[in-house]
Order: sequence, then structure tokens, then C-alpha cells
Amino acid sequence: MAINPNHQSLRRRHCSREQKSINQQQQHEQHRQPKYYEFDQMPEYLRFNQWIHSGYRSPQLSTIECLKSCFELHNETMNIWTHLLSILYILYNFRTIFITKFYNSKLIYFHIISCLSSWIGSLLYHIFMNHRLGRKIYYPLLKIDMFGIWITQTFGALTTIQASLIMFDEWFRLYFSVIYLAISMVVLYECLQAKESWQRSTSFSILFLMRLICFMIRLRTHYNPNQMSSLLLKIFKYRHIIGQEIWPIIGAIIASTKIPERFFHNGQFDYFLNSHNIMHCLVVMGGLHMHWSFIDDIQFFIN
Ligand SMILES: [Zn+2]
Repeated sequence: MAINPNHQSLRRRHCSREQKSINQQQQHEQHRQPKYYEFDQMPEYLRFNQWIHSGYRSPQLSTIECLKSCFELHNETMNIWTHLLSILYILYNFRTIFITKFYNSKLIYFHIISCLSSWIGSLLYHIFMNHRLGRKIYYPLLKIDMFGIWITQTFGALTTIQASLIMFDEWFRLYFSVIYLAISMVVLYECLQAKESWQRSTSFSILFLMRLICFMIRLRTHYNPNQMSSLLLKIFKYRHIIGQEIWPIIGAIIASTKIPERFFHNGQFDYFLNSHNIMHCLVVMGGLHMHWSFIDDIQFFIN
């Protein structure tokens, strides 16, 4: 049967009009979607703090949109920039921060990786957590974040352990480090399996206890009692070792108690200075102290 050409062109015009109206409707829908969401509008896996009420990015972001969101104001902006600025600062000042004469020591490589890994893991987590792949990408990102913290806790401690146990022979120091590494493998398994955030934080406590033992040994063996009788002097001498441990612990406590936002119900801390933001700042301080205590320890080895 022959088809009337006029009829065909009419149908084509009708189809294109229909398509146009669908596109316009879609654009209208997109326009109507809010740029930022409230807590109740988020999927369950992205609801981890009920006292952060607003400023959530869409859970349907593409990779490019996730990257673009670094330059927008939402409730993850401060979490992203606290660690991004720290990484940029380290990379920009690489040659001056990691003093050239220390490059001969193998410990420097462990140290550089330890300084950066937890910030890089956290940065990836906070940038891409709202990716449209949803849970499929969220949980691997959480594991990357934990893995970064594990690297910092494990390899960042090796120099401190070696310096603290300097009065013992080389074999003892080696055994202790191997035991520390073996236990840290168990910790890695535990923190990757943890379901709750407090379980992730507490899984690192055994490593903290081992470092505490080393610190006690250092206090007993490293100083001349006549020169360092005052407690304040000891605290000053070891301020970086104390700082590298104490700030992240205080940060973890603040983050798990969700202070201050739990006492304010009008969203005053949605964007800035909520418990997670404060923890990020304290983790950065801990990282800086870890770096300074490394410099002190290497200088101690050289002397
Ligand atoms: Zn974080």
C-alpha cells in the first residue's frame, strides 16, 4: 500500500513536537528539584548525623558534578577543604617540609605516605559519597577512608617505635615492629568489617596502647633524671608525640558525641564547625604533630 508523503511528514512533525514537550517537561522537573536536600530526603546510607538538618548534596551526582561540588557551599564543603588544603600545602612545600638530608633514610618514605594517606582517603570519601552509583560506591569509599587512616596509624608509628626503643638491641626493636605490624593487620580486618562508626574508631585502640607502652619506655630511658626532673619539661620535650596522639583522639570523641550540633536545633552548624568539621581540623593538627615528631626522631637518630 502506498503511503501519502504529506501524511508521513505530518506524523514526523507530530513526533518531534511530542519529543520536544517531553524534553521540556524533563527540564522543568530538573529545575524543580532542589539543589540541596534536607536530612529526611536523603537515602538511609547518607543519614549519619540527625543534627545536620540541611545542605545535603543530591545523592544522584555524576562524577563531574561531585568534583564541581568541591567549589560550592554545602554541608560537606568544610570536610573537603580541610583535607584538600592540607594535601596541597604538603605537596607545595614538599622539598622544604621533607628536608633533603633525611631522604637517605627509608623511614622518610613510610612517613610521607603516612602523612598523606588518611587525608587522601577522607577527601575521596567526602567528594564522591553522593555519587549516583549509591551504596555500590559509598561502602568502598568508606573502606578507602578507613584504609588511609590505617596506613597513617601503622606506618606513621614505625619511626616513633624505633626511637622509643633505641636503648634496646636491634633485634628487639625489629621483633616489636613486626608484632606491631601483625596486630595492625588484625586491626585492618576489624575496622573494614565494622558496622558502626564507634567500632571503627575503637578498633585502633590496641595500636594506640602499643604506642603508649613505647612512650612510657621512652620516658623511662631517654632522659637524664637530673636534667629533666620537671613534668612540664617532659611534656614540652615530647609535645609532638603527645599531640600526634591526643588531637585525633579528642577529634574522634567529638565526632562520636556530635557536639556542638546536638544542642542547637536550628541548623546553625549544618555548614560549618559541626563535630565532623572539628574532627577534621584536629586530625590535621595530629598529622602536623606526627610530622614534627618524625623530624625530632630523625634528628635524634642522626645525633
Ligand atoms: Zn571525614
